[in-house]
Amino acid sequence: GNCVMWFRTDLRLKDNRALSLASKHATKQNKNLFALYIISPQEWKAHDVAPIRVDFWLRNLVSLQDKLEELNIPLIVRTVNLRRNVPSTVIEYCKAVNVSHLFANIEYEINESRRDKKVCSLAEHSDIVVSLEHDQCIIPPGLVLTKQQKPYTVYTPFKKSWLAIVGSGPKYLELSPNPAPNNELIREQYASGFNTKIPEFVEGFQILTAQSKRASTEFPAGEDAAHQRLQTFISGRIENYKEARNIPSIDGTSSLSAYFAAGVISARQCVVAARAANKNKLQCGNIGITTWIEEIAWRDFYRHVLVAFPYVCMNRPYKLETENIEWNNDPARLRRWCEGKTGYPIVDAGMRQLNETGWMHNRVRMITAMFLTKDLLVNWQDGERYFMQHLIDGDFASNNGGWQWCASTGTDAQPWFRIFNPTLQSQKFDPNGDYIRKWVPELSSLGPNEIHDPSGSLSPKRFAKLKYTTPIVDHKTAREKTLEIYKAVTKGG
Ligand code: FAD
Repeated sequence: GNCVMWFRTDLRLKDNRALSLASKHATKQNKNLFALYIISPQEWKAHDVAPIRVDFWLRNLVSLQDKLEELNIPLIVRTVNLRRNVPSTVIEYCKAVNVSHLFANIEYEINESRRDKKVCSLAEHSDIVVSLEHDQCIIPPGLVLTKQQKPYTVYTPFKKSWLAIVGSGPKYLELSPNPAPNNELIREQYASGFNTKIPEFVEGFQILTAQSKRASTEFPAGEDAAHQRLQTFISGRIENYKEARNIPSIDGTSSLSAYFAAGVISARQCVVAARAANKNKLQCGNIGITTWIEEIAWRDFYRHVLVAFPYVCMNRPYKLETENIEWNNDPARLRRWCEGKTGYPIVDAGMRQLNETGWMHNRVRMITAMFLTKDLLVNWQDGERYFMQHLIDGDFASNNGGWQWCASTGTDAQPWFRIFNPTLQSQKFDPNGDYIRKWVPELSSLGPNEIHDPSGSLSPKRFAKLKYTTPIVDHKTAREKTLEIYKAVTKGG
């Protein structure tokens, strides 16, 4: 029978484990390879997928389809309205085009695993073999363990072990061969109800034309664009990454996260390229390069955590005792934070960057998340959801991990008693106020001494003229209260 590659969050042709194997298999059997993509709006809604992320997927699908077309591999697209029908639709397609072997890369989240289990059981009844490949991480989850054979819950020792394993042989950084072309012209062979038309938008996930235009410029689609971005970063900015990555007003990071999250580029490709620029070393050498490689280890870490502790996928914090925190449920607090109207300029700048572009700088993600949980005492899960609903790079493991770090509910989290002072963070990481001025135009006339705390540094008259909001809470008072509340649930520890 033929083979099918079911694409999900791995929208690339190069170094794609499952696609490469699927092609190898099809060639060996002298059969055809088809590619399938399922649009699943109900599932996407349930997972809070941001419209801007769906738009990015669709744009990348067009580019992927073009690339596959050159190899005579058709990419078939089908919308399945009810998520529970996804597994049967995939099998239906396999049967319709005489497929005996289905390939896909593993998605580690709980609902995705359940979906794939269902696919496997349906496939078994239809004599279809399913191969699910590890592709998302450099080292598959479950293979970086402590001496006691336990999963790591702290990043630094995880990273040490991760670097040792990755450096111990070629296995984990070996890139997969590109797929081979199909022999015959098979374009007409796909079955009814399935076609190759990629929609321009998906109902329920439309974005404004202006936002879509902006996203196409800031995050152009396709693996070529992703590799170009990687090359530009590695041949220039990476050397200063260690310091530059903390300054939100400059372009100091790679801006590759959206491509990682949609699988338009692989973590292997990135580490291989970074290592090559560092005289083939993963450790030592240029500190900018090694720091960047370690960020990719963070990405692996949070995926490993999710597989080791699947309850974090089910709306539960890693530290279960933190479920007893008495959050403040005042909806106005959450709303003002979402809208970037807290009266803390750095927080407002971050939220407005997110709302306008679908992306936020990492330092500011930490500041805004810490502010929501520790200053406003709003449940971190509300913030996690809002980020997911707006990020172009939304990724469950990294987002959940980042939020739980800030809320002190997670693995290797920031200790609960260490609370960022938003004004000091602002002075330290945006000293001139350039980032704030860009995103909070009300404050554009203020200088570096005033911009971080306008209500505290300006006369009431000047402050009133700005038409900028007064601080939603007093940081010092909020901090005291939060410390008390956290102390009560964590037994002081
Ligand atoms: P670079 O600094 O160039 O880093 C390279 C890559 O390493 C990133 O693209 C990303 O894939 C990975 N990476 C970097 N930092 C982290 C990290 N702390 N955790 C996990 N992976 C990391 N990242 C997401 O990809 N999706 C999310 O939904 C997401 N939500 C976050 C929520 C919060 C509250 C916090 C604090 C962080 C979150 N991050 C998330 C991590 C990080 O902020 C982004 O990956 C980063 O800002 C993306 O920019 P970049 O591609 O320029 O990163």
